[in-house]
Amino acid sequence: MEILQTPAEMRTWREEHPGSLGLTPTMGYLHEGHLALAQRSVTENRFSAASIFVNPTQFGPDEDFQRYPRDEDRDLQLLRDLEIDVVYLPGLEEMYPKGYQTYVTVGELAQGLEGASRPVHFRGVATVVTKLLNVVRPDRAYFGKKDGQQLRVIRRLTQDLDLAVEIVACETVREKDGLAMSSRNAYLTVEQRRAATILSQALQAAETQFTAGARSAESLRRVVRTTVETEPLAELEYVSVAHSETLAEVEGEVGSEILLSLAARFGSVRLIDNVTLTEDT
Ligand code: AMP
Repeated sequence: MEILQTPAEMRTWREEHPGSLGLTPTMGYLHEGHLALAQRSVTENRFSAASIFVNPTQFGPDEDFQRYPRDEDRDLQLLRDLEIDVVYLPGLEEMYPKGYQTYVTVGELAQGLEGASRPVHFRGVATVVTKLLNVVRPDRAYFGKKDGQQLRVIRRLTQDLDLAVEIVACETVREKDGLAMSSRNAYLTVEQRRAATILSQALQAAETQFTAGARSAESLRRVVRTTVETEPLAELEYVSVAHSETLAEVEGEVGSEILLSLAARFGSVRLIDNVTLTEDT
């Protein structure tokens, strides 16, 4: 497995490996959710790349950039075990050299939900993903449904900027008790970790109602809200019932496909989760 740190090295590698290439972009501290993406890339492509870069531009000034968990040696071993061909591991100076001043912004799709709570987040994500796609030049790029809005923002930007890459969406990988895997779960205390299962339980409760025929957006939001409120350690930041494609918040009756998503805090730890509800679920 090759480990490359500069855009020039990465470009040269790609020129020398012209077969189909899959890319899994990550911020490291890998868990089974990341590995499922990388594994799928290995299955579907001649070559597979992963990137590890904790991207400062997608963190707000009061967020966890400095303390974001890192374990590069372990990450590299896990990727080696999957037989990933190349890891792109740029430093901060490679990604954002002195004088850097160009950003990619996606419109409406990036404004609600996470965008409303984290104003600079998607500008940072869109910028770094564009830069990664431009240097690595994959045929396919693998993203998790865990970050539902991010997935849609990235699809939009690749379409709008005519980037020749297929965006592959992978299912959310969960712990046995339902908690969506996340590098940030490492911040939780034992008590908070136990309490955090309320998020997937709340989404499931709404899903059960939906399957039973409930179609009022407000009643679905209410089920999530009241379930999360049973857990004193959880502080719900938002719950959204949105049109699956546009992410416009639904008032009244929901259509045939919606994204039900939430963000909540456990102390200073902020977690997100979502499910897609479709008529045939
Ligand atoms: P991150 O390192 O958090 O930036 O995530 C890198 C990629 O892994 C993103 O496409 C995430 O959506 C995806 N991902 C993170 N957690 C999960 C999970 N539990 N299941 C599936 N994909 C995930």
